[in-house]
Amino acid sequence: MKVRVNQDACIGCGACEQIDDELFKINDAGISKEVSEDVAEGKEENAKEAIDACPTGAIEEI
Ligand code: SF4
Repeated sequence: MKVRVNQDACIGCGACEQIDDELFKINDAGISKEVSEDVAEGKEENAKEAIDACPTGAIEEI
């Protein structure tokens, strides 16, 4: 599974980072970025939860 945060759609709410800060980090610009596009084994559920939780649909499975 691979994910990417659409930087133009993210509003920096922090929900994804709260779900798993090993997958998503808010950067200095206040926007979330995936730590790695490759979701580590065992992290898929958290990645899916973040996709569902994102209020703007900014997290895309790629
Ligand atoms: S949940 Fe969505 S809008 Fe909120 S910080 Fe993460 S990617 Fe951005």
